[in-house]
Amino acid sequence: MTDHSRRNFLKTSTAAAGLSLMRSLSPARVLCADVPSDASARLTPFPLGSIRLAPGIFKEQAEINARYLDSLSVDRLLHSFRVTAGISSSATPYKGWEDPACELRGHFAGGHFLSAVALASATSGNEVLKRKGDEVVSGLAQCQKKIATRFLSAYPTELFEHLVQGKPVWAPFYTYHKIMAGLLDMYVLAGNSDALQVAEGMGQWAGEYFWGISAEQRQRMLRTEYGGMNEVLVNLGALTKKSRYLETARLFEQPSILDPLAERRDELQGLHANTNVPKIIGAARMYEVTGDRRYKQIAEYFLEEVLTARNYVIGNTSLDEHWRTPPGELQGSLGWKNAECCVAYNLMKLQRLVFGWTGDARWMDAYERALFSCRLGTQNADGLKQYFFPLAAGYWRAYNSPEESFWCCTGTGAEEFAKFTDTIFFRRGSDIYVNQFIASTLDWKEEGLLIEQVTQFPREHGTTLKIKTSRPVARTIHVRIPGWTTDAAQVKINGGALEAVAGPGSYLAIRRVWQDGDTIGISLPVDLRQEALPGDDSVTAVLYGPLVLATELGPGPGEGPKTVIHSGDTAPDNLPSPEPLPKTVAGPGVGPDQWVQTESKSELRFNVATEGAKYKLMPMYQIRDQRYAVYWQAGNPKERS
Ligand SMILES: [Zn+2]
Repeated sequence: MTDHSRRNFLKTSTAAAGLSLMRSLSPARVLCADVPSDASARLTPFPLGSIRLAPGIFKEQAEINARYLDSLSVDRLLHSFRVTAGISSSATPYKGWEDPACELRGHFAGGHFLSAVALASATSGNEVLKRKGDEVVSGLAQCQKKIATRFLSAYPTELFEHLVQGKPVWAPFYTYHKIMAGLLDMYVLAGNSDALQVAEGMGQWAGEYFWGISAEQRQRMLRTEYGGMNEVLVNLGALTKKSRYLETARLFEQPSILDPLAERRDELQGLHANTNVPKIIGAARMYEVTGDRRYKQIAEYFLEEVLTARNYVIGNTSLDEHWRTPPGELQGSLGWKNAECCVAYNLMKLQRLVFGWTGDARWMDAYERALFSCRLGTQNADGLKQYFFPLAAGYWRAYNSPEESFWCCTGTGAEEFAKFTDTIFFRRGSDIYVNQFIASTLDWKEEGLLIEQVTQFPREHGTTLKIKTSRPVARTIHVRIPGWTTDAAQVKINGGALEAVAGPGSYLAIRRVWQDGDTIGISLPVDLRQEALPGDDSVTAVLYGPLVLATELGPGPGEGPKTVIHSGDTAPDNLPSPEPLPKTVAGPGVGPDQWVQTESKSELRFNVATEGAKYKLMPMYQIRDQRYAVYWQAGNPKERS
C-alpha cells in the first residue's frame, strides 16, 4: 500500500504519482473475441485441482495459513459491508485496516479473504474454507442487492466522490479491485456463479462511473492508488467475452507509467512500488487478451529492469515502499522498511505471466529465488504475516496480529500461502514443464497421466519424477535446469544417465514413450555463490542454490509489540538503529569458498570465521525469532591480505 497514513490511517491524503494526459495505448479496437495468434504457443498452468502438495515445508506452511483463514468469522468479515448497505449487524468488527473507520475496510474481508479461500479450496480441496467463501459471497450479494445500484463496498460511494472532487481519500479503487478479484477467484476456482454476477455488477458500476466523468477528473483519480483495476477488468472481459469491460480497463491505464517502459526507459525513481506493479500485471493480461505486443514489451522490460537494477538478493525490491534511487544504485538503502511483501507477491505474479510467453528459465529461476528466500519464512507458526522484510543487520521479523492489523501484506500473504501448487508444473499443448522442485503430484486425468515429484529440496540437491500411466504415452517433459546449478548436473531415466544435459539456466526436453513406473532422477549440484548489492561491490550476500543465507545475531525481541503489531501500523515503534554489517574478507576476486565453510549440506548449515568473530549461516527462510544479517561488509584489500 502507499505510504499514506501508515501511522494514523484515519488521516487521509492523495498519493502523488506523476501523470500525463489520459489516452489509450492504442485505438480502442479490442474485442474480447480476439485471440492473439501466438496464444497457442504459450505455456499455461494446469488447473489447480490437478496438483496436490505432498508432505514437506510447503504443505506445512499452507496448512498453517488455512488454519488462520478458518479462524476468521464470516459475520465479522461482513460487518462493514452490511452496515454500508443498511443491513443490521451485531458482529464485532475486525480492527486495523478492517476497522469501521478505516478507509480501506473491505479490502481483506471481501477481497483477499475470498481469493485466499478460493485458492485453498482449489489447491487442497478444503471444503470448510470453500463454504466460508460461499457464505461471504452470499452476504456480499445481499449487500449489493440492498444497495441496488450494482455498487458494492464496505464504505459508501462518498469516498469515491472524494476522488473525483480531489478531496483527500486513501485508495477506494484499490479496495474495489481486491473485492472484484476475490469474487472472480470464487467463480473461477470455487465454481460460485453468484460471485461472477456480483463482480459483473461491480464492473458495470465502475464503468459507468468512469465513463460518466471528465478526462480531467479521471486523471485526478488515477493519482491515487487503484491496485489492479485494469487487470481485474481485463479478466472480467475475458471471462464474460464482453468488450465493454476491456474498454473500461483501458480507462485505468496511465501513459505516464507505461510510455517510458514501452520505450525501455527506467523512470521508476520516486514511484511507489506496490502501486505500480499491479498496473504492469494489467498490461501483461491486456497483451494476453488482445495480442497488442506493446503491452508485452512493457511487461518484459519492467520485469527485467526491476530484477536486475532494483532488486535485493532475496528477490524483492523497494525501500520505504518506493523506488528511491536511480537504477543500479541501491547502496545505503538497507533498513527496516525494505521489500514490502506485497511487491514480491505481485512481481511473482508477473513472472508467471511473462514466463508463459517464452518458457525462458530465467523467470522461473527468479520465481524460485523469491519463493524460497523472500516468501517462505514470512509467515509465523500462527499464520501471521510480515509487511516489510528488513535487510539491515540486527533487525528481525515482525508480524500482523490475528485480528487487529489486516494489512495489504496480510492479504497477499494469505493468498500466496494458499497457492504454492500454481507454478510447479505448466503445460504447452501436450508437453509438460517441471518449473519448481516441490514435493507434489500432478494428476492429468484427461491424459491418464500422473507425475509424482518426490523431493526434499532444498535439503536434497535434486528431485525425482515418477510416472504413472494407464498406457504407454509419448510426451515431452521439460525440466528446469536452474541457473544456480553446475555443469555437473545429471539426469537419469530409470537409473541410466542421459549423455547430455541442458546447460544451467534452461529447460531440458526429454521426449520418449513413457511407461508406467518410469522415473526421472535429476541431480542438481549446488555451489556457494555471492551476490553484491547493486551499486556497492563491498556489500555482498551469500547464496546456496536459490537460498539466500543469513546469519543469526542473537535473540529478537520475543512476543512483544516489536514482534506482533496490534494496530494498523506496519512497523514497530521506536526501532533501534541497525547494527553494522558483519565483516568478511569477501571482495573482488575472493569467492565464497574462501570465506564460507560448509558444515552440513543436508542440514544447510554453514560457518564464517573472521578476525574475532564466528558466524553460523542458514537459509533465510529458517530464521524465525532471531535478529539476523543478510548482507556482509567486505573488508578493504589491506584487511583481506
Ligand atoms: Zn503490502
